[in-house]
Amino acid sequence: MSKFECKSCGLCCKDSSLNDDKSSYPRFSPNSIIFNLNKPTISMFEWEARKLFKLAKENKINVKIVPYKLVYDKKTRTSLILQYTLAEHKDCPFLIDNKCSIYNDRPLICKFFPANLGSVSDLMKGVNNIKVSVCPNDFTFEQWSEFLSEKVKTKELVEKLEQRYGESYLALLERDLIMKEITDWVKHLVNTKLIDPATEKDNLVNDIINSKKVSLIEYLIRHTGLNVLSFLYESGSLLHAKTFIENIKKSGAGEI
Ligand code: SF4
Ligand code: SF4
Repeated sequence: MSKFECKSCGLCCKDSSLNDDKSSYPRFSPNSIIFNLNKPTISMFEWEARKLFKLAKENKINVKIVPYKLVYDKKTRTSLILQYTLAEHKDCPFLIDNKCSIYNDRPLICKFFPANLGSVSDLMKGVNNIKVSVCPNDFTFEQWSEFLSEKVKTKELVEKLEQRYGESYLALLERDLIMKEITDWVKHLVNTKLIDPATEKDNLVNDIINSKKVSLIEYLIRHTGLNVLSFLYESGSLLHAKTFIENIKKSGAGEI
């Protein structure tokens, strides 16, 4: 598979309305305790949000970062924030002279673009979920369909995607693995009855919107013995994605 080449057109950093998410917000994710407070444009984890906020301040760039995904605890009437997003905007405020002004510090969602195929859930469930990006230089739906028309081993797919997108594919996997870990942490809070999460049936949307909002990471550090910081530290070097890929290559498992 040919290597993807970014032509630096800047299109992916412009006009967040190109985001094809037509859902209305705020809303619960289907059959879930996760509440989506604001429409995601550039979604990010807490440490990424903190970094972007600091960089914006240093460079006098006007940004608004708002909570995106959260879980509402009925016991304490507090929301734990899982992810943030840049508020709805037209062009990304960090795009200056058609270039990313924070390139090395951009969040994982920007690092993985336009890699879309072969997410962790795709690989684990064996689903070929073709999501064509807005990038005019990436494969079209027809090209992806043709590529996937023959059964391909998971190991081969991973190798081809790594060959095509390099670090961007690793960033896609790392982001998925972080989200999976965060979901497991929240499950732990529920299973140990530390929190009593709201669902759609509780009809508490206004309470959630107006609730006190706190950092999930800080809550976990304060109330559990989970090894949160060490997991996050390793994410900086995409270690989880690298290990995930190595394990797939070793096992060579499955066709998708
Ligand atoms: S749209 Fe594609 S080619 Fe243009 S900057 Fe983004 S990744 Fe690069
Ligand atoms: S942070 Fe940088 S890469 Fe991400 S959308 Fe903004 S300008 Fe583009």
